[in-house]
Amino acid sequence: MSILVVGSVAFDSVETPFGQVENVLGGSATYFATSASFFTDVNLVAVVGDDFPEEHLEFLRSRNIDLRGLTRTSGKTFHWKGKYGYDLNEAQTLETHLNVFESFRPEIPPEYADAEYLILANIDPDLQLEVLNQVKTPRVVACDTMNFWIASKSESLKKVIQRADFFIINEGEARQLSGESNLVKAARKILDFGAKTLIIKRGEYGVLMFRSSVFAAPAYPLEEVFDPTGAGDTFAGGFMGYLASTGDLSDDGLRRAIVFGSVMASFNVEDFSLNRLKSLQHREIEERYRNFKNLTHFQGLPLSK
Ligand code: AMP
Repeated sequence: MSILVVGSVAFDSVETPFGQVENVLGGSATYFATSASFFTDVNLVAVVGDDFPEEHLEFLRSRNIDLRGLTRTSGKTFHWKGKYGYDLNEAQTLETHLNVFESFRPEIPPEYADAEYLILANIDPDLQLEVLNQVKTPRVVACDTMNFWIASKSESLKKVIQRADFFIINEGEARQLSGESNLVKAARKILDFGAKTLIIKRGEYGVLMFRSSVFAAPAYPLEEVFDPTGAGDTFAGGFMGYLASTGDLSDDGLRRAIVFGSVMASFNVEDFSLNRLKSLQHREIEERYRNFKNLTHFQGLPLSK
């Protein structure tokens, strides 16, 4: 089953302790779509300016991503500038230039309106609501956000959360949104806002999934982490891509999807921008999935006499 993603397509300028890049390909929808494209067909809805180069569109097409919903309009493409210190878990936003996103009204092409799997990647929650109103009967809705929108649009965001099957945020955002520092308490509060399942990304500490049960997955232990930008979106792409490719929403299916998401994110942080995803092969994904299983597998207690 294909996935519909609505989010940002961007130029990013990023500084980490290991290097610096200017105006490289980024954006929440770009990372999500590329990651999900390893599992299933992806339809992308976003906007770019007239400065967006053909080579980036070519790359997205080469991943079989359907760009009929990508609008090109006069003006500048969305630009995000961020910085990471040695604690790579927390991005510091230096600049956000919404540019063409400022006047963007997402219009879902009629051929996408029956989408069964919908991901509302990180954009203005009011735009996320507009999208929800245009997609007829989605089977699975996942939604992401960030501190910028929690601070400026929390009421709209809560409306989005109420309609989401999976709400995917990082731990800082979970604390900010709930006003709780303990993550279990934060999760309970956010589930009370109406999300059916809450997934909290914890950078190098892995992922927690809260629903009627709790599931924890570590992050894949890597020696080289270059740039965490897009890790969250790449995680969400692997997670939703796997779910859409199997249709399996059982607890076991969700756990496998969490691990596929973690595998995809672990590759993405190995290089700047989408460089690592550009060279990634399916056999590498499968191999890392198997390594993940070995990493976390342990035996139950022997039966007591
Ligand atoms: P992540 O590191 O997974 O949280 O996502 C990073 C991506 O989000 C970057 O490529 C940015 O271009 C994009 N981004 C940053 N701020 C915003 C924002 N306010 N709205 C939409 N996308 C954003």
